[in-house]
Amino acid sequence: MSPSFLPPFCANPDCVHHSHGPKDPYRSFRSIGSYHTRIFGDVPRFQCKACGRSFSVQTFRVDYWVKRRFSYEDLTHRLSSCESLRAIGRAWRVAGKSVSNRVGRAARQVLAMDSRLASARRPTEDLAADGFESFCVSQFFPNNIHILVGAESQFVYATDHVTLRRKGRMTLEQKERRAELERRYRADPKGVAKSFSRIASEWLRILSDGSLPASTLWTDEKRDYPRALRASPSVAALLGQGRLAHRTIPSRAPRTMTNPLFPVNYIDRELRKNLHEHVRETTCWGRNVSSQMERLSLYLYQHNYRKPYRVRKPRGPTHAEVAGYNLAMVKEELERLWMDRAWLTHTVLGQPALDTWLRRRTTPLRPGDEYRQRHIWGWIRGGPRDLAVCAAGW
Ligand SMILES: [Zn+2]
Repeated sequence: MSPSFLPPFCANPDCVHHSHGPKDPYRSFRSIGSYHTRIFGDVPRFQCKACGRSFSVQTFRVDYWVKRRFSYEDLTHRLSSCESLRAIGRAWRVAGKSVSNRVGRAARQVLAMDSRLASARRPTEDLAADGFESFCVSQFFPNNIHILVGAESQFVYATDHVTLRRKGRMTLEQKERRAELERRYRADPKGVAKSFSRIASEWLRILSDGSLPASTLWTDEKRDYPRALRASPSVAALLGQGRLAHRTIPSRAPRTMTNPLFPVNYIDRELRKNLHEHVRETTCWGRNVSSQMERLSLYLYQHNYRKPYRVRKPRGPTHAEVAGYNLAMVKEELERLWMDRAWLTHTVLGQPALDTWLRRRTTPLRPGDEYRQRHIWGWIRGGPRDLAVCAAGW
Protein backbone atom coordinates (compact mmCIF):
# COMPACT_ATOMS: atom_id res chain seq x y z
CA MET A 1 0.00 0.00 0.00
CA SER A 2 1.33 3.42 -0.91
CA PRO A 3 1.98 6.28 1.53
CA SER A 4 -1.14 7.93 0.10
CA PHE A 5 -3.28 5.07 1.36
CA LEU A 6 -6.81 6.05 2.41
CA PRO A 7 -8.84 3.66 4.57
CA PRO A 8 -11.68 2.19 2.46
CA PHE A 9 -14.08 2.10 5.45
CA CYS A 10 -14.08 2.31 9.24
CA ALA A 11 -12.64 -0.91 10.66
CA ASN A 12 -15.25 -1.04 13.41
CA PRO A 13 -18.07 -3.35 12.18
CA ASP A 14 -20.54 -1.60 14.51
CA CYS A 15 -19.89 1.84 12.98
CA VAL A 16 -22.16 3.40 10.35
CA HIS A 17 -19.05 3.92 8.20
CA HIS A 18 -18.10 0.24 8.07
CA SER A 19 -20.14 -0.57 4.97
CA HIS A 20 -18.57 1.90 2.51
CA GLY A 21 -17.57 0.53 -0.90
CA PRO A 22 -15.54 1.84 -3.87
CA LYS A 23 -18.56 3.75 -5.22
CA ASP A 24 -19.18 5.46 -1.90
CA PRO A 25 -15.74 6.39 -0.50
CA TYR A 26 -15.23 6.80 3.22
CA ARG A 27 -14.16 10.30 4.30
CA SER A 28 -15.05 10.64 7.97
CA PHE A 29 -11.61 9.90 9.38
CA ARG A 30 -8.60 11.90 10.51
CA SER A 31 -4.89 11.03 10.37
CA ILE A 32 -3.33 10.55 13.81
CA GLY A 33 0.35 10.03 13.02
CA SER A 34 2.06 6.71 12.62
CA TYR A 35 3.97 4.00 14.46
CA HIS A 36 7.15 2.23 13.44
CA THR A 37 7.61 -1.50 12.93
CA ARG A 38 10.72 -3.39 11.90
CA ILE A 39 8.93 -5.26 9.10
CA PHE A 40 6.58 -2.66 7.68
CA GLY A 41 8.42 0.60 8.49
CA ASP A 42 6.23 3.60 9.36
CA VAL A 43 2.57 2.60 9.55
CA PRO A 44 0.08 5.53 9.30
CA ARG A 45 -2.78 5.56 11.81
CA PHE A 46 -6.29 6.93 11.47
CA GLN A 47 -9.26 7.66 13.67
CA CYS A 48 -12.91 7.45 12.69
CA LYS A 49 -14.71 10.76 13.30
CA ALA A 50 -18.02 8.99 13.91
CA CYS A 51 -17.13 6.23 16.39
CA GLY A 52 -13.71 7.38 17.60
CA ARG A 53 -12.04 4.02 16.96
CA SER A 54 -8.49 4.08 15.65
CA PHE A 55 -6.92 1.77 13.10
CA SER A 56 -3.93 1.74 10.79
CA VAL A 57 -2.91 0.84 7.26
CA GLN A 58 -1.95 -2.50 8.72
CA THR A 59 -5.57 -3.21 9.72
CA PHE A 60 -6.39 -3.44 6.00
CA ARG A 61 -3.47 -5.66 5.02
CA VAL A 62 -3.47 -9.46 4.77
CA ASP A 63 -0.51 -9.44 7.16
CA TYR A 64 -2.33 -7.67 10.01
CA TRP A 65 -0.86 -8.53 13.42
CA VAL A 66 2.11 -10.53 12.10
CA LYS A 67 5.75 -10.06 12.86
CA ARG A 68 7.19 -11.96 9.91
CA ARG A 69 6.17 -12.03 6.28
CA PHE A 70 6.07 -15.03 4.00
CA SER A 71 4.91 -15.48 0.44
CA TYR A 72 1.31 -16.73 0.31
CA GLU A 73 1.83 -17.81 -3.29
CA ASP A 74 4.79 -19.91 -2.19
CA LEU A 75 2.63 -21.38 0.59
CA THR A 76 -0.18 -22.44 -1.75
CA HIS A 77 2.29 -23.82 -4.26
CA ARG A 78 4.10 -25.92 -1.63
CA LEU A 79 0.86 -27.10 -0.03
CA SER A 80 -0.51 -28.13 -3.42
CA SER A 81 2.69 -30.04 -4.23
CA CYS A 82 2.24 -32.51 -1.38
CA GLU A 83 4.48 -30.69 1.12
CA SER A 84 3.52 -31.13 4.76
CA LEU A 85 3.11 -28.15 7.09
CA ARG A 86 6.23 -29.20 8.96
CA ALA A 87 8.24 -29.37 5.74
CA ILE A 88 7.06 -25.86 4.86
CA GLY A 89 7.95 -24.74 8.39
CA ARG A 90 11.45 -26.18 7.99
CA ALA A 91 11.90 -24.40 4.66
CA TRP A 92 10.69 -21.10 6.16
CA ARG A 93 12.51 -21.73 9.49
CA VAL A 94 9.36 -21.27 11.54
CA ALA A 95 7.11 -23.49 13.68
CA GLY A 96 4.23 -25.40 12.10
CA LYS A 97 1.83 -23.13 14.03
CA SER A 98 3.04 -20.08 12.11
CA VAL A 99 2.45 -21.94 8.84
CA SER A 100 -1.09 -22.90 9.99
CA ASN A 101 -1.75 -19.25 10.85
CA ARG A 102 -0.81 -18.21 7.29
CA VAL A 103 -2.92 -21.04 5.84
CA GLY A 104 -5.95 -19.65 7.71
CA ARG A 105 -5.34 -16.11 6.48
CA ALA A 106 -4.73 -17.28 2.92
CA ALA A 107 -7.87 -19.46 2.97
CA ARG A 108 -10.04 -16.48 3.94
CA GLN A 109 -8.46 -14.44 1.14
CA VAL A 110 -9.32 -17.06 -1.49
CA LEU A 111 -12.84 -17.61 -0.11
CA ALA A 112 -13.50 -13.88 -0.45
CA MET A 113 -12.06 -13.85 -3.96
CA ASP A 114 -14.24 -16.82 -4.95
CA SER A 115 -17.26 -14.95 -3.65
CA ARG A 116 -16.48 -11.76 -5.61
CA LEU A 117 -15.83 -13.67 -8.83
CA ALA A 118 -19.02 -15.72 -8.52
CA SER A 119 -21.05 -12.70 -9.62
CA ALA A 120 -19.24 -12.72 -12.97
CA ARG A 121 -19.35 -16.43 -13.74
CA ARG A 122 -21.46 -17.73 -16.60
CA PRO A 123 -21.20 -21.52 -16.44
CA THR A 124 -23.08 -23.39 -19.13
CA GLU A 125 -21.88 -26.89 -18.29
CA ASP A 126 -23.43 -29.82 -16.43
CA LEU A 127 -22.21 -30.44 -12.90
CA ALA A 128 -21.11 -33.55 -11.05
CA ALA A 129 -20.92 -34.19 -7.30
CA ASP A 130 -19.58 -36.92 -5.08
CA GLY A 131 -18.04 -37.55 -1.67
CA PHE A 132 -14.25 -37.75 -1.48
CA GLU A 133 -13.30 -40.20 1.27
CA SER A 134 -10.56 -39.29 3.69
CA PHE A 135 -10.19 -39.04 7.47
CA CYS A 136 -9.26 -36.64 10.23
CA VAL A 137 -7.83 -37.25 13.74
CA SER A 138 -7.66 -41.05 13.21
CA GLN A 139 -8.92 -43.73 10.85
CA PHE A 140 -11.76 -44.26 13.33
CA PHE A 141 -13.17 -40.96 12.01
CA PRO A 142 -13.52 -41.26 8.24
CA ASN A 143 -15.10 -38.35 6.41
CA ASN A 144 -16.73 -37.44 3.14
CA ILE A 145 -15.71 -34.19 1.52
CA HIS A 146 -18.51 -33.52 -0.93
CA ILE A 147 -17.30 -31.75 -4.05
CA LEU A 148 -19.33 -29.99 -6.74
CA VAL A 149 -17.42 -29.91 -10.03
CA GLY A 150 -18.01 -28.56 -13.54
CA ALA A 151 -18.40 -31.43 -16.00
CA GLU A 152 -16.36 -29.78 -18.79
CA SER A 153 -14.09 -27.43 -16.87
CA GLN A 154 -13.33 -29.56 -13.78
CA PHE A 155 -13.63 -26.27 -11.89
CA VAL A 156 -14.55 -27.03 -8.26
CA TYR A 157 -17.50 -24.80 -7.32
CA ALA A 158 -18.05 -25.93 -3.74
CA THR A 159 -16.97 -28.39 -1.06
CA ASP A 160 -18.55 -29.51 2.19
CA HIS A 161 -17.33 -31.77 4.97
CA VAL A 162 -19.02 -34.47 7.02
CA THR A 163 -17.53 -36.91 9.55
CA LEU A 164 -18.82 -40.48 9.12
CA ARG A 165 -19.11 -43.50 11.38
CA ARG A 166 -16.37 -46.02 10.68
CA LYS A 167 -17.79 -49.04 8.86
CA GLY A 168 -16.41 -52.04 7.01
CA ARG A 169 -14.41 -55.00 8.20
CA MET A 170 -12.86 -54.57 11.64
CA THR A 171 -11.19 -56.86 14.16
CA LEU A 172 -12.86 -57.40 17.51
CA GLU A 173 -10.29 -55.11 19.08
CA GLN A 174 -11.09 -52.36 16.57
CA LYS A 175 -14.81 -52.71 17.23
CA GLU A 176 -14.20 -52.30 20.95
CA ARG A 177 -12.02 -49.27 20.31
CA ARG A 178 -14.72 -47.72 18.11
CA ALA A 179 -17.34 -48.26 20.84
CA GLU A 180 -15.00 -46.62 23.36
CA LEU A 181 -14.39 -43.62 21.10
CA GLU A 182 -18.07 -43.28 20.28
CA ARG A 183 -18.80 -42.62 23.91
CA ARG A 184 -16.86 -39.38 23.41
CA TYR A 185 -17.86 -38.52 19.82
CA ARG A 186 -20.47 -40.00 17.54
CA ALA A 187 -20.90 -38.99 13.91
CA ASP A 188 -24.34 -37.66 12.94
CA PRO A 189 -26.18 -40.57 11.21
CA LYS A 190 -27.89 -38.04 8.92
CA GLY A 191 -24.62 -36.18 8.28
CA VAL A 192 -24.24 -37.20 4.63
CA ALA A 193 -27.74 -36.03 3.68
CA LYS A 194 -27.27 -32.74 5.56
CA SER A 195 -23.91 -32.12 3.93
CA PHE A 196 -25.27 -32.93 0.48
CA SER A 197 -28.18 -30.55 0.99
CA ARG A 198 -25.61 -27.79 1.54
CA ILE A 199 -24.04 -28.80 -1.78
CA ALA A 200 -27.52 -28.61 -3.34
CA SER A 201 -27.81 -25.01 -2.11
CA GLU A 202 -24.53 -24.23 -3.85
CA TRP A 203 -25.93 -25.78 -7.03
CA LEU A 204 -28.85 -23.38 -6.70
CA ARG A 205 -26.47 -20.43 -6.32
CA ILE A 206 -24.71 -21.41 -9.57
CA LEU A 207 -28.06 -21.48 -11.35
CA SER A 208 -28.95 -18.00 -10.10
CA ASP A 209 -25.43 -16.46 -10.44
CA GLY A 210 -25.28 -17.52 -14.07
CA SER A 211 -28.97 -16.74 -14.73
CA LEU A 212 -29.14 -20.19 -16.29
CA PRO A 213 -32.37 -21.54 -17.76
CA ALA A 214 -31.57 -25.04 -16.49
CA SER A 215 -28.83 -27.14 -14.91
CA THR A 216 -28.07 -30.87 -14.67
CA LEU A 217 -26.30 -32.55 -11.74
CA TRP A 218 -24.72 -35.99 -12.06
CA THR A 219 -24.10 -38.21 -9.04
CA ASP A 220 -23.78 -41.91 -8.30
CA GLU A 221 -26.78 -43.83 -6.99
CA LYS A 222 -26.30 -43.17 -3.26
CA ARG A 223 -29.78 -43.02 -1.73
CA ASP A 224 -28.90 -40.04 0.50
CA TYR A 225 -28.57 -37.75 -2.52
CA PRO A 226 -32.17 -37.58 -3.82
CA ARG A 227 -33.33 -37.42 -0.21
CA ALA A 228 -31.06 -34.43 0.43
CA LEU A 229 -32.20 -32.69 -2.76
CA ARG A 230 -35.87 -33.11 -1.84
CA ALA A 231 -35.18 -31.76 1.66
CA SER A 232 -34.60 -28.27 0.24
CA PRO A 233 -37.96 -26.73 -0.79
CA SER A 234 -36.37 -24.45 -3.44
CA VAL A 235 -34.35 -27.27 -5.01
CA ALA A 236 -37.38 -29.60 -4.91
CA ALA A 237 -39.55 -26.94 -6.60
CA LEU A 238 -37.00 -26.35 -9.39
CA LEU A 239 -36.58 -30.10 -9.87
CA GLY A 240 -40.38 -30.28 -10.25
CA GLN A 241 -40.33 -27.48 -12.86
CA GLY A 242 -37.51 -29.17 -14.78
CA ARG A 243 -35.09 -26.27 -14.33
CA LEU A 244 -32.87 -28.55 -12.24
CA ALA A 245 -32.30 -32.16 -13.27
CA HIS A 246 -30.67 -34.86 -11.15
CA ARG A 247 -29.22 -37.76 -13.11
CA THR A 248 -27.41 -40.78 -11.72
CA ILE A 249 -24.93 -43.36 -12.92
CA PRO A 250 -23.77 -46.53 -11.09
CA SER A 251 -20.48 -46.01 -9.24
CA ARG A 252 -19.26 -49.30 -10.70
CA ALA A 253 -19.47 -47.96 -14.27
CA PRO A 254 -16.03 -47.85 -15.98
CA ARG A 255 -14.08 -44.79 -14.79
CA THR A 256 -13.35 -43.50 -18.29
CA MET A 257 -13.36 -39.93 -19.58
CA THR A 258 -16.81 -40.45 -21.05
CA ASN A 259 -18.28 -41.35 -17.65
CA PRO A 260 -20.37 -38.35 -16.46
CA LEU A 261 -18.62 -38.75 -13.09
CA PHE A 262 -15.20 -38.30 -14.69
CA PRO A 263 -14.84 -34.75 -13.23
CA VAL A 264 -15.23 -35.96 -9.63
CA ASN A 265 -13.03 -38.99 -10.25
CA TYR A 266 -10.41 -36.64 -11.68
CA ILE A 267 -10.53 -34.34 -8.63
CA ASP A 268 -10.35 -37.40 -6.35
CA ARG A 269 -7.14 -38.46 -8.04
CA GLU A 270 -5.66 -34.97 -7.91
CA LEU A 271 -6.42 -34.56 -4.20
CA ARG A 272 -5.03 -38.00 -3.46
CA LYS A 273 -1.69 -37.21 -5.06
CA ASN A 274 -1.28 -33.48 -4.40
CA LEU A 275 -2.45 -32.90 -0.82
CA HIS A 276 -0.24 -34.71 1.65
CA GLU A 277 -2.98 -35.42 4.20
CA HIS A 278 -5.10 -37.28 1.61
CA VAL A 279 -2.34 -39.54 0.24
CA ARG A 280 -3.07 -43.22 0.96
CA GLU A 281 -1.24 -44.47 4.09
CA THR A 282 -0.06 -40.92 4.83
CA THR A 283 1.77 -40.16 8.06
CA CYS A 284 0.68 -36.50 7.87
CA TRP A 285 -3.09 -36.82 8.26
CA GLY A 286 -5.27 -33.91 9.38
CA ARG A 287 -5.70 -33.35 13.11
CA ASN A 288 -8.36 -30.66 12.91
CA VAL A 289 -11.36 -30.59 10.57
CA SER A 290 -11.40 -26.78 10.24
CA SER A 291 -7.71 -26.66 9.35
CA GLN A 292 -8.22 -29.51 6.88
CA MET A 293 -10.90 -27.48 5.09
CA GLU A 294 -8.72 -24.34 5.06
CA ARG A 295 -5.95 -26.31 3.36
CA LEU A 296 -8.47 -27.70 0.87
CA SER A 297 -9.65 -24.15 0.04
CA LEU A 298 -6.07 -23.17 -0.73
CA TYR A 299 -5.54 -26.24 -2.84
CA LEU A 300 -8.69 -25.50 -4.83
CA TYR A 301 -7.54 -21.93 -5.42
CA GLN A 302 -4.39 -23.37 -7.00
CA HIS A 303 -6.43 -25.90 -8.98
CA ASN A 304 -9.14 -23.50 -10.18
CA TYR A 305 -7.24 -20.31 -10.93
CA ARG A 306 -3.56 -21.18 -11.29
CA LYS A 307 -3.21 -24.65 -12.74
CA PRO A 308 -3.57 -25.09 -16.51
CA TYR A 309 -6.64 -27.01 -17.57
CA ARG A 310 -4.43 -29.66 -19.14
CA VAL A 311 -0.88 -30.20 -17.89
CA ARG A 312 0.39 -30.86 -21.40
CA LYS A 313 -0.56 -27.29 -22.28
CA PRO A 314 1.15 -25.25 -19.54
CA ARG A 315 0.26 -21.99 -21.28
CA GLY A 316 -3.29 -23.11 -21.93
CA PRO A 317 -6.40 -21.86 -20.15
CA THR A 318 -7.03 -22.44 -16.45
CA HIS A 319 -10.02 -24.35 -15.10
CA ALA A 320 -11.70 -21.01 -14.28
CA GLU A 321 -11.35 -19.80 -17.87
CA VAL A 322 -12.86 -23.01 -19.23
CA ALA A 323 -15.71 -22.62 -16.71
CA GLY A 324 -16.60 -19.26 -18.27
CA TYR A 325 -15.19 -16.91 -15.63
CA ASN A 326 -14.56 -13.34 -16.75
CA LEU A 327 -10.83 -13.33 -17.62
CA ALA A 328 -10.18 -9.64 -16.93
CA MET A 329 -11.87 -9.86 -13.54
CA VAL A 330 -9.92 -12.97 -12.57
CA LYS A 331 -6.64 -11.29 -13.57
CA GLU A 332 -7.44 -8.19 -11.55
CA GLU A 333 -8.44 -10.26 -8.50
CA LEU A 334 -5.28 -12.40 -8.70
CA GLU A 335 -3.09 -9.30 -8.80
CA ARG A 336 -4.61 -7.97 -5.56
CA LEU A 337 -5.23 -11.31 -3.83
CA TRP A 338 -2.49 -11.07 -1.20
CA MET A 339 -2.75 -7.32 -0.63
CA ASP A 340 -6.09 -6.20 0.81
CA ARG A 341 -7.37 -8.09 3.84
CA ALA A 342 -10.61 -10.03 3.28
CA TRP A 343 -13.42 -8.95 5.63
CA LEU A 344 -16.25 -11.29 6.50
CA THR A 345 -18.58 -8.32 6.84
CA HIS A 346 -17.88 -7.39 3.20
CA THR A 347 -18.19 -10.91 1.80
CA VAL A 348 -21.20 -12.97 0.69
CA LEU A 349 -20.66 -16.64 1.44
CA GLY A 350 -22.65 -19.84 1.15
CA GLN A 351 -22.82 -22.02 4.23
CA PRO A 352 -19.92 -24.38 3.42
CA ALA A 353 -17.55 -21.45 2.81
CA LEU A 354 -18.83 -19.64 5.92
CA ASP A 355 -18.20 -22.78 8.01
CA THR A 356 -14.63 -22.86 6.69
CA TRP A 357 -14.06 -19.15 7.30
CA LEU A 358 -15.38 -19.30 10.86
CA ARG A 359 -13.75 -22.68 11.63
CA ARG A 360 -17.04 -23.86 13.03
CA ARG A 361 -16.92 -27.55 12.08
CA THR A 362 -16.48 -29.95 14.97
CA THR A 363 -13.33 -32.03 15.17
CA PRO A 364 -13.97 -35.54 16.60
CA LEU A 365 -12.82 -35.90 20.22
CA ARG A 366 -12.19 -32.15 20.43
CA PRO A 367 -15.65 -30.57 20.60
CA GLY A 368 -15.66 -27.01 21.85
CA ASP A 369 -11.92 -26.82 21.52
CA GLU A 370 -11.90 -24.79 18.32
CA TYR A 371 -9.35 -22.04 18.25
CA ARG A 372 -10.79 -18.95 16.59
CA GLN A 373 -8.71 -15.85 16.38
CA ARG A 374 -10.53 -12.64 17.08
CA HIS A 375 -9.70 -11.17 13.69
CA ILE A 376 -11.58 -13.93 11.82
CA TRP A 377 -14.75 -11.99 12.49
CA GLY A 378 -13.06 -8.75 11.59
CA TRP A 379 -13.85 -6.64 14.59
CA ILE A 380 -11.41 -4.50 16.50
CA ARG A 381 -12.75 -4.53 20.03
CA GLY A 382 -15.97 -5.82 21.50
CA GLY A 383 -17.91 -8.99 20.90
CA PRO A 384 -18.70 -11.06 17.81
CA ARG A 385 -21.25 -9.71 15.42
CA ASP A 386 -24.46 -11.45 14.55
CA LEU A 387 -23.25 -14.16 12.18
CA ALA A 388 -26.61 -14.34 10.44
CA VAL A 389 -25.98 -10.79 9.29
CA CYS A 390 -22.56 -11.79 7.96
CA ALA A 391 -24.02 -14.83 6.20
CA ALA A 392 -26.54 -12.62 4.47
CA GLY A 393 -23.61 -10.70 3.07
CA TRP A 394 -24.01 -7.46 4.88
ZN1 LIG B 1 -16.23 4.34 12.78
